[in-house]
Amino acid sequence: GGYAPLMFRSVILAAAGSSRAERLVQSVPLSRSIVSRFVAGTGSDDALRVTRELVADGLAVTLDYLGEDTTTPAGAEAARDEYLRLLDGLAASELTPAAEVSVKLSALGQAFDEKLAEEHARLICAKASEAGTTVTLDMEDHTTTDSTLEMLARLRTDFPTVGVALQSYLRRTEADCRELATPGSRIRLCKGAYAEPESVAYQSRLDVDKSYVRCMNILMAGDGYPMIASHDPRIVTIAEDRSKWFDRGVDEFEFQMLYGVRPEEQLRLAREGYTVRVYVPYGTQWYGYLMRRLAERPANVAFFARALRSR
Ligand code: FAD
Repeated sequence: GGYAPLMFRSVILAAAGSSRAERLVQSVPLSRSIVSRFVAGTGSDDALRVTRELVADGLAVTLDYLGEDTTTPAGAEAARDEYLRLLDGLAASELTPAAEVSVKLSALGQAFDEKLAEEHARLICAKASEAGTTVTLDMEDHTTTDSTLEMLARLRTDFPTVGVALQSYLRRTEADCRELATPGSRIRLCKGAYAEPESVAYQSRLDVDKSYVRCMNILMAGDGYPMIASHDPRIVTIAEDRSKWFDRGVDEFEFQMLYGVRPEEQLRLAREGYTVRVYVPYGTQWYGYLMRRLAERPANVAFFARALRSR
């Protein structure tokens, strides 16, 4: 296994932004079965069903509605309404607080109207708090980091439990961790999933991993609530070790993994008593999400290619 070679990663991440490649992939009927390994389904009924199953297995959940790169106010409103409906559904099914939601600000219009995106985010936070659960802001490409962290700060004045993802591949992230390791602050630490330039991001797997451990140390030593989002067995082992070193109980940090990735490890950690939150995406706009997963792991592409060949 391992981090996909750089060349390979950039080719797949380029395909992630290609509408021609998107039409091709979405036109293949069999791709549904590969998609369903990583995506709960297209509608909120699918999201609720998968959440129910995971919660029954002792896992926590964060749900992501796949509607990123919204380019119109109507699209942003539709994404907001989907989250509001979803949160009603979760509360009605008594799946809160086990399940929370992850929100991409780009889905709410951040790229063309930051104020609008913030208003939408605020309504989602209010609904989540009414439903007794939390919201975590996903982190997208580096051009959005400042905007997202500024919005986080404003949202947190009214909804202190709003969390955010930070990416260890960015050179700035250690400083962001230091800034955000304060009481009540929920920080999801991940490696980062976008193609970023050398000027802002570490390029080698080793540098990204070393940065991850430095950031984890800051979060574990700090006063916030660290959410360790990684499938990397070495990262998981180090997190277990640091949590003991810094005397954090199993309710004072959590592990997070993606739906469909290392499911047996998710259950093992949960059985050990840790909180394990599974990130469950759903929606019709699954293409970009799937491509980022494929870029991470050549084995997933082989799996995908096999399924295409045998159709
Ligand atoms: P990698 O470096 O990809 O892999 C390390 C090792 O993990 C591999 O060598 C292998 O041993 C093991 N492994 C990885 N994948 C598999 C697999 N499929 N099967 C078996 N073993 C495997 N990125 C963002 O940019 N913004 C976000 O907001 C964001 N949110 C996330 C939320 C969650 C809960 C998670 C888990 C990830 C999120 N990511 C996000 C993606 C993240 O940045 C990484 O791209 C992704 O998690 C891959 O990195 P990794 O730490 O899992 O390890």
